[in-house]
Amino acid sequence: MRTGNIHTDPSPRRLCDEAGCTKEGCFKAPESPQNPRTYVWLCLEHVRLHNARWNAFKGLANGEIEKLIRLDTVWERPSWPFGKGPLAARHTATRKNPPILYPAAVLAAFALMNLKPPLTLAAVKARYRALAKRIHPDAKYCLTAGAKNDHSEFCQIQQAFTTIKEYYAKKTS
Ligand SMILES: [Zn+2]
Repeated sequence: MRTGNIHTDPSPRRLCDEAGCTKEGCFKAPESPQNPRTYVWLCLEHVRLHNARWNAFKGLANGEIEKLIRLDTVWERPSWPFGKGPLAARHTATRKNPPILYPAAVLAAFALMNLKPPLTLAAVKARYRALAKRIHPDAKYCLTAGAKNDHSEFCQIQQAFTTIKEYYAKKTS
């Protein structure tokens, strides 16, 4: 067995494991830092997103990881090992953790942008601009109606930024 996070799949026509994605899953990656021996197969776009999530996870303390595990949209997978799934994490969090300060969607958005709250909106904006510059897509494309179901890395980040902006706007109004 080869080592390393990602390598190509020799067998053809395996679908990407990201929910709703119909592209071919050519890249093998460990499912999560919690399940490094369980593998998922992803398309190029989603393996890049997967790595971004992975790195965001590694930067978080254990308590914060528990909060994120609860977010189905971040780590939803069909086969959580018994006792380790989102529900189990929710029970643990209720018993041990203090109340969550940020709504789940906002926490997920911070993780996607590889940010650790609390942060000023200016800091979030700066991060967004840096990410946009690095990825360099057609930014306008993500604002069109047809791009609503687009899961490219940039569109995900743009949606995350919008979520955070709206949260800050609500908080200060
Ligand atoms: Zn995909």
